[in-house]
Amino acid sequence: MHSGEVLILILIIISTSSAISPDIHNHHHIYLPTNLEALQLDRSDSLFCDSWRLSVETNNAGEWRSVPPMCIDYVGNYMGASGQYSSDCAVVALDAAAASRALRVPADDGMDAWVFDIDETLLSNLPYYAAHGFGSDAFDDKSFDEWAELAECPAIPASLRLYQEVQRLGFELILLTGRYESQRNATIKNLLAVGYHGWDRLILRGPSDIGKTALVYKSEKRMQLEEQGYRIHGSCGDQWSDLFGYPMATRSFKMPNPMYYIA
Ligand SMILES: [Mg+2]
Repeated sequence: MHSGEVLILILIIISTSSAISPDIHNHHHIYLPTNLEALQLDRSDSLFCDSWRLSVETNNAGEWRSVPPMCIDYVGNYMGASGQYSSDCAVVALDAAAASRALRVPADDGMDAWVFDIDETLLSNLPYYAAHGFGSDAFDDKSFDEWAELAECPAIPASLRLYQEVQRLGFELILLTGRYESQRNATIKNLLAVGYHGWDRLILRGPSDIGKTALVYKSEKRMQLEEQGYRIHGSCGDQWSDLFGYPMATRSFKMPNPMYYIA
């Protein structure tokens, strides 16, 4: 190749690349962060953690073990300072209340039932979890049981209003919890102290229920309730294992909980 041809080739390469490169540059310029560190710490984690929360709340994630390390602060903020958790609970409770008004079957035989889970549904263990990494620490039965025994869980305000409205409409209130019979007294003390009264049944895990998954245990209890003649119109729980299985309530309401998963 003559030197003149080489020069022309170089010019062609340069002009071709400069014809393409502005596009590439502009394209990348739009998407590349100007401050990658800030983006990773704030925007991208927050985006990811929002998506992660959607995935766990819809049960797309299935069984998950702990809050991802990058989302610990996000979950803490979600549960507390942001007010988002309270707002999400309030909307679930409003939807459930609307359904309870629409579903009410005016039979006066005392068998129209609404089932409530207790932990993270009627009562909040947020004070405990706030001191234990918002679900990022490995679950410790012993320290959690000590906490439950204190009977100091606050009510979830939206749930208390829902409970009272469902009660006013004439439903029988069935409390179905994964807590053990040995925790009955502390649980009753706690429920009464924060304003829950007049439930029809409080069902806890007895000796024959130990070792069963929540899904199996709660399904069996709902089956027994139906065999006793109850019509389960609604069910509220923070875990899919409170709601899924057989039989199911006519309407199920998933309360938010990005802190832990129970199969
Ligand atoms: Mg629960």
